[in-house]
Amino acid sequence: MVQLSTGDMLREARTSGTEMGKKVAAVMDAGNLVTDEIVIGLIREKLEQGAAGGFIFDGFPRTLAQADALDGLLSEMGQKLDAVIELQVDDEVLVSRIVGRAEAAAAAGQPVRADDNEDALRVRLAAYYKQTSPLIGYYYAKGGLKSVDGLASMDDVAKSIADILG
Ligand code: AMP
Repeated sequence: MVQLSTGDMLREARTSGTEMGKKVAAVMDAGNLVTDEIVIGLIREKLEQGAAGGFIFDGFPRTLAQADALDGLLSEMGQKLDAVIELQVDDEVLVSRIVGRAEAAAAAGQPVRADDNEDALRVRLAAYYKQTSPLIGYYYAKGGLKSVDGLASMDDVAKSIADILG
């Protein structure tokens, strides 16, 4: 499967200094969501390239408008979602993991994500509850929503996801 991470695509656009990358930088650093138009455009481009084994979407869709657009793009291609996987985590654990990730990157001399700090993470969490969490109900109602305990060990999380994907 081809992994399509909109966060990775946006960070790549910033690093390569494209106009779009410059436009989204401040929004991402603050922890807010980039516009649907930009994100849907990135996904459309990748879907058009095709993938024999299918796609795994990571961090997308994050709004109902993105979910609608994805439905439209997939039906144009005669494709459908096999599963929607929700990784359940505790907010406070998430905060300490992110702060830990930033400290580990800094200690290893690696770049630290500008949004990997407690202030930006609180904004990211608020964006999740306001804009993304309605997707849980949306996909539950459509069928195919699976929840995985994201606090389990990395191996167990990987196994649960592999089981869902068959
Ligand atoms: P992530 O790497 O998934 O944590 O995303 C990092 C940041 O990129 C987010 O906080 C948003 O600013 C932006 N981003 C990534 N994916 C999306 C998306 N599907 N919709 C809007 N913004 C996104």
